[in-house]
Formats: sequence, C-alpha cells, structure tokens
Amino acid sequence: MAAFLHLSLLLFFMSCGSFVFISADGTTTVRPTVVSEAVFSATESLFSAGTTNASEVSTAEFTTGYRKSTATTTTTTTAHPTEGAARREVTRKKAGREEGPVEFECPPLGLESLKVKDNQLRASSYKRRGLGPHRGRLNIQSGIEDGDIYDGAWCAQVKDKKQWLEVDARHLTRFTGVILQGRSSIWSWDMVHTYKVQFSNDTLVWKPCMNGTTEAVFEGNQDTETPVLALFNTSTVARYIRINPQTWYQNGTEGDICLRAEVLGCKLPDPNNIYAWQTEPAASRDKLNFRHHNYTEMRKLMKSVNDACPDITRIYSIGTSYRGLKLYVMEISDNPGKHELGEPEFRYVAGMHGNEVLGRELLLNLMEYMCREYKRGDPRVIRLVKETRIHLLPSMNPDGYEMAFKKGSELAGWALGRYSYEGIDMNHNFADLNSVMWTAIELETDRSKLINHYFPIPEQYTSEDAFVASETRAVISWMQNIPFVLGANLHGGEVVVTYPYDMTRDWAPREHTPTADESFFRWLATAYASTNQVMSNPDRRPCHNKDFRRYNNIINGADWHNVPGSMNDFSYLHTNCFEVTVELSCDKFPHASELPIEWENNRESLLVYMEQVHRGIKGVVRDKDTQAGIADAIIKVEDIDHHIRSVADGDYWRLLNPGEYRLTVSAEGYLSSSRTCQVMYDHYPTICDFYLTKVPKHRLKDILAKGGKLPKDLQLRLRQLRIRKLRVTTKAINQRRAAAAAKRAKRV
Ligand SMILES: [Zn+2]
Repeated sequence: MAAFLHLSLLLFFMSCGSFVFISADGTTTVRPTVVSEAVFSATESLFSAGTTNASEVSTAEFTTGYRKSTATTTTTTTAHPTEGAARREVTRKKAGREEGPVEFECPPLGLESLKVKDNQLRASSYKRRGLGPHRGRLNIQSGIEDGDIYDGAWCAQVKDKKQWLEVDARHLTRFTGVILQGRSSIWSWDMVHTYKVQFSNDTLVWKPCMNGTTEAVFEGNQDTETPVLALFNTSTVARYIRINPQTWYQNGTEGDICLRAEVLGCKLPDPNNIYAWQTEPAASRDKLNFRHHNYTEMRKLMKSVNDACPDITRIYSIGTSYRGLKLYVMEISDNPGKHELGEPEFRYVAGMHGNEVLGRELLLNLMEYMCREYKRGDPRVIRLVKETRIHLLPSMNPDGYEMAFKKGSELAGWALGRYSYEGIDMNHNFADLNSVMWTAIELETDRSKLINHYFPIPEQYTSEDAFVASETRAVISWMQNIPFVLGANLHGGEVVVTYPYDMTRDWAPREHTPTADESFFRWLATAYASTNQVMSNPDRRPCHNKDFRRYNNIINGADWHNVPGSMNDFSYLHTNCFEVTVELSCDKFPHASELPIEWENNRESLLVYMEQVHRGIKGVVRDKDTQAGIADAIIKVEDIDHHIRSVADGDYWRLLNPGEYRLTVSAEGYLSSSRTCQVMYDHYPTICDFYLTKVPKHRLKDILAKGGKLPKDLQLRLRQLRIRKLRVTTKAINQRRAAAAAKRAKRV
C-alpha cells in the first residue's frame, strides 16, 4: 500500500498508512535506536485498602493491588532491516522465555483496537479537532496533510505541566501500565519525554501514581514511532486514568505536547456498574486455538489439523524465506494433492506484511474450523471441500512475522516486521505488468496486436540479480503451477476491501483505475465487506485517516493510493486468478484477547468469499474428434477486454456477474467457436463446454499419421476447399487469357 510524494532527497513512503523513511538510493533509513528502560523496579508489594494514601483521598475508594512482575527491564530496539551488513538484530533482555513477547499481566484496554470509544477519551485541552483526545490512540496514523481532521495524536492546546489525557475505562479496572508513543506526522516532530499518571473513581478526586513515597515520573518517548512501555510499581484499582505530561520535545518555540497511548488494565467484576448493560461481546462459540502462533507453533497447529483430517488436508511448502523458514500451505479438498477436472482452485494468502498478523491467525482458525465442521457434517463446509480445492498460506513473510512477534502486539509499533528480512515490501515486489500493458496500448496503433491477459514477465525481472525477494519468487511460481481462479490476500492496519488495479496509470498518487472486470471485482469486494461484522457496522469510527464507510467499505486500490508491483495486479495480468486485498483491522497486531471476536467478525466473510469461486461460467474445452481436453484455449467474453485460458485438462472458469454473455473460444490449430451462455443468480456456475474442430491441415496430418480414414465432415470440407481453390485458379487463368486476348487485339 503506498502513496508517495517526492521531497528533496527523501521519499516518504506511506505504507498501510505508515511512514518509513527511504532515502533516494533506496536504502531504508532507520530512526535512532531507542533503548528505553522501565525505571521503576517492580518490588512485590501488597497494600491493603486503607493503608495507602487513602486519607488524602477520602471519597475515593482506591485499592492498590499487587503485581507479580517478571519483566523488570524491557530493552526495546527498533529495527528496520537494511541491506547487507546493516542487518540488525532485535535484542531483548527478559526473564524467563528467550523467544516470544513480554506477556503483560493485564491486556490493553483497547485505545488502539477502538474497543475504547471516542467518548471514553477526554483531555484538559486540545489544539484542534484533528488533534483531539480521540486521536490519542497507540499507532493511529495521520493523513498526509497535517491540519485536517485526521491528525496523528492528541496534542494539548496549552503547553504546561497541567495537561492530561483521560481514559474512562467504564469499569473498575486494575491499571498496571501505560504505553506511550509520539505524534504520527511527516511534518511535525512531537513527543512527550516524561509524564505522571493519576487515578480517579469520579474524575473529581485524583490520586497520583506512586513510586514508593514519591510521585512516579515515567519515561516517555525519544522518537515519535517507538512505543515505550511503563509498568506501574504497584497496580491501582480505579475507573479513570490520566496521563499527565511533564516534559516534552521542544526546539525553540517548536514542540507541542502530543502523544498516542495505550493503557494496560484488568477489568474487575463490578456489581454497581451503571454500564452493566454494555456487556462485553461474548467469546466465539467456535472453540478454536485463539492465540498468536509463532513459526514453530504455526507448524504444530497445521500438523494437528492434518492429523485430525488426513483425508481432506495436505501440507506442502512453496519455498523458503530469506532466513530459511518454509512457506507452508494447507490444502483443503476432497482429493488433496491433485487438480480435479472442473474443480476451481482458491487461495488465501496472509502475512505478506509480517506485522499484519490477524490474517495469519484467521487462516489457522479457518483450517481448524473447516476440518472440524467437515467431520461434524456441516453441509456448507462439506460442499466447499468437495467442490473446491482450497489453499491457505498463513504466512508469506515468516521472517517479518518473527520480528514483530518477538516485540509483541503492543510494542511492535507500526512498521517493524512489515518487510522481508532484506527490507523488501513484497506488495511492491511483483513484476509491474501494468506498465507493460499501458505502454503497449500507447505505442501500438494496431489494436488487434495488443494482448489483454497472460502478460509475460519482463526479462530484467527474471534475472538472478533482480531485487526480488525469495518469498515473492516462491509465490510467483506457485501462481504459475496451480490454476487458481480466485484469491484474496489478507492485510491489516485498515478496515476495507480493495480491488485491482492497485497501480495508477500515470503515477498519480491516487486515481480510480479499473480493470476490464470492474463490476465483478466490485461484487467480490462487496461479498467480503458486506458480511464482515466490523465493516458492515454503520456506527464504526474510521481507523486512521480515511472514512471507508463512504465507499461502502470497498475501494479500487489505485483510488486509495498508488501501489506498483502489487500481487493483485500481477495475478490478474499474468494468470487467470482474480484477487482482492482485505484490510482486516485497524490494529495490525491485535492483542490475543481480541482473536475470538475477530474470528466472529470474519468467519462468515471468509466462507462467503470462498464460495464466490463458483460464480459465472465454467466448462471444458475439448477436441471434437478425440474428446481430449485442450489446454491453453483462449476464452473471450464479448465486451470484456480480458481473456482467460483453459488449463491442462481443458477446464476453464470465467468469473462473471449474472447476465447473458457471448463467449468465443479459440485455440492454436483449431477453428474458434462461439456460443451464448447465461449466468444466473445462484451459487452454481453455468456449464458451458466447447468442442473445437481442428483446422483441416492439422487434422489431416494427424489422421493420416495414425493411418485413419477421413471423417465425413472433413471430406466435405476438403472438397469445398478444393473447389474454391479451383474456382480461384480458374478465374485467374480466365483473366490472364482475357488480358492476353486484349493485347493481341490491340496489336492487330
Ligand atoms: Zn499490508
């Protein structure tokens, strides 16, 4: 995902809304590494209510909890992999497990995930609406222009030590920590260096967060992007919490008090809660493995699904990542391991951006769910399994994922783990066939010479030293080996479905750039968006800086921002496969506790979308004489300037909306054939088979080679041909004779 503008020597690269600095020579510049240490050592302390400063805050009933802490020091480093020697290591010091993120005692309240609503956030003052308290959410992304209503932080109007951002947890909550981040902006550099925290039960009386006998001062940010964690020395039970900045970045008159935050806290049972009717959404009724799975755990889970459903599943790998992790695919089909005549192939790809992790978990949920439901006899899943060959690739960028995973859902920030280990953004890394196509259209005056599908990959892209990730290469050969008909690739950081083209024609930052199959792509995107529980909720607030509800939650990729070399565009122009991008959640790395509800939000859409592979027309193109399937036959639909081709056994699928279509099928060595086919509204494709007759010359050669007799129709055709030839010859001879006679007459 990228819209970019060129500014002197820096390219500001907007990636799923994020800004990464890329210098003119293409290397990624990394903001200074920040080592933040939680200054407060966790001593196990147990205060009973009343023994704290309760006398000072007599009306508030504060109870101070007790924290079992293991992580006393959290060393965080940001790492953006750059080329060659500059590869960084993500280092971490942590008691206990060596691998895996810091596990917090209490989950985030959900400032980032939007579980905390705008009206739960208040502030002492704010500069303007776009910098209001509702913007003070961890990882929120500003629009390209500062000054609009979607800016990148809460910023106080007044610059003094009395400013605060307040969160109403709406329940009695045991607060355990705060995560702070600076302002998202390409124009401003604002962050809070140190801050205090206060608690209240009624917003009237406030109790400071203590460190022993003195008020605690927490360390905030040294850059604008790295999230910095502060765990409280002792946890406190209250309903409201305030973050109260003390020092901030200042450069002369520059420098505002700006922050983005997340709050950690455990909700307590609260019988007097007046908001009790706002019950938490129930966890999923599907008892699936709802947790984040790193590479080893993912492999283990896939193996367990394969063990549970050996008849309908198969695990295979399409290649390896830069660091040698395998790109595992789970195949789900009634005959795993082979293509069946007429059965369409479908794929879901997740984790192309390694830090956008929800898709990976949803695909693991999906395989577990389908295996279980198949065994349970769920007719919908049985139909899908029997009539479709489904391929699920949960992690296209396992190296990136491991990087983000080690930081964990709250501290990975916005971009860590997005790229391949070499620093490649895989969604910009596919061969740009759009330019090939558009250049040809501009230069070629003879329209009949233009092709509109199966664009070959340019030579420079296939060379050994082309900067193409091994993961991208693996996916390209997978796309070439399996005749996929439909797919989707799952991302995160927004909530919207985008469809190709992703690239604008004249390098415009954004411009609606439709394919010849615009109406079907809009249908596909709608099929997902309208059944997704988050997208279809009219009351949701926009994630970052664009309100996709205005577009019914679907948008042409290029109309959002220009992405050259995207997987969707490549898939459409190089293969038969139609593909869309699903942006699953505002939060790229939701906390594990959000996973059951995210499965509920997406289960129906994941199933409905797969069922769309059975729309339109399908059939088999055969040789009329031998009945053998004809591979590579071209299927043209009148008025749609994009052809598709039949696969090895002659079977083909043409995704189409309901309507009447004129199809013409042609193949090398055959006479082309046309017929009209009707697509209905049901979930079944219309069968439209074609029987092609060989061009006589080829046919004759074939038949004679086999020592056979000529069939009647061919004899007839050959006779007609001979007669026509004879007529032409006769005509020519007669003309010549006439001319000669005329000459003679002149002479005479
Ligand atoms: Zn993405």
